[in-house]
Amino acid sequence: MRRGYFTDWENAGSSRNLLPHEFVHSWNGKYRRGANLWTPDFRTPMEDNLLWLYEGQTQFWGYVLGARSGMLSKEDTLGALASTAATFANATPGRAWRPLVDTTNDPIIASRAPQPWRSWQRSEDYYSEGLMIWTDVDRIIRQQSGGRGSMDDFARAFFGMNHGDWGVLTYTFDDVVATLNRVQPYDWAGYLNRRVNEVAPQAPLEGFTQGGYDLVFTEEPTNWIKVAEKRAKNTDLTYSGGFVVGNDGAITSVIWDGPAFDAGMTVGSTLLAVNGRTFDADSLKAAIKAAKGSNQPVRLLIKNGDVYRTIELNWNGGLRYPRLVKRGKAPGTLDALLAPR
Ligand SMILES: [Zn+2]
Repeated sequence: MRRGYFTDWENAGSSRNLLPHEFVHSWNGKYRRGANLWTPDFRTPMEDNLLWLYEGQTQFWGYVLGARSGMLSKEDTLGALASTAATFANATPGRAWRPLVDTTNDPIIASRAPQPWRSWQRSEDYYSEGLMIWTDVDRIIRQQSGGRGSMDDFARAFFGMNHGDWGVLTYTFDDVVATLNRVQPYDWAGYLNRRVNEVAPQAPLEGFTQGGYDLVFTEEPTNWIKVAEKRAKNTDLTYSGGFVVGNDGAITSVIWDGPAFDAGMTVGSTLLAVNGRTFDADSLKAAIKAAKGSNQPVRLLIKNGDVYRTIELNWNGGLRYPRLVKRGKAPGTLDALLAPR
């Protein structure tokens, strides 16, 4: 990690889950591993189709243990989960054609190189969409068991075994389903097939939305987003026109089929001016705010190579940032999951 991981406590939010994440890999990934990801020699290709457990559940425990231990406040954890939920519910049109399991091939296909039109192609989505699925599995176990069971029981049963065994114990899809059924009988095979193996146009939001929270969009960003923008030196308008622009004007993300996409904006171009005046983050946000509710486009001067052109961004919804808002007073399953033990 960069210097400041522990000392610059306020500004390291987005990397804070790294330590609990890697800690969890001792069990999930190092000890337990998908059967076809374990290979006897370097000639045998590894296959990644169970990474939604290896990485997806590690991503889940990374945030859960982060919140439980205080590595990340509950508020920031909810901020991170809201950003994840919104990404897959509102900014991943590629889920209309590509099932989650297929994204486990991305480390092999793409070698972690930057990809064009990521929202349409999808990328290593098994990490964070995996987190959402395991959050929902926890919600189902808690609701079906009347609060007696949780993902902690799955972890104990699946990872907490054979003390002193330093080898690798492999598993298959059916082993995962069998352990879930021992924790809480349910149609886990059907559930995981629908979420993981089939094309699933709807994001798996139920761990949040049926776990006591609503995913809403507000004009004020969460602390999580503010820290992330400061750290990345950019302006995140993913839900406010459909693009991300660096403080230097570099367009780093354009959401497929969004308003910026429709205006002809592409990654790799540079934003020079907003409504005829020199671009900076504050003036861009002010222009988007001013266009709210009007039928006036925001005019953006874009440079691509040596070509300059003005495009019209037709976005009149103002600034929008995702957050999870508690529904009612009683603790939901998500509150129970994140509570320190
Ligand atoms: Zn990992």
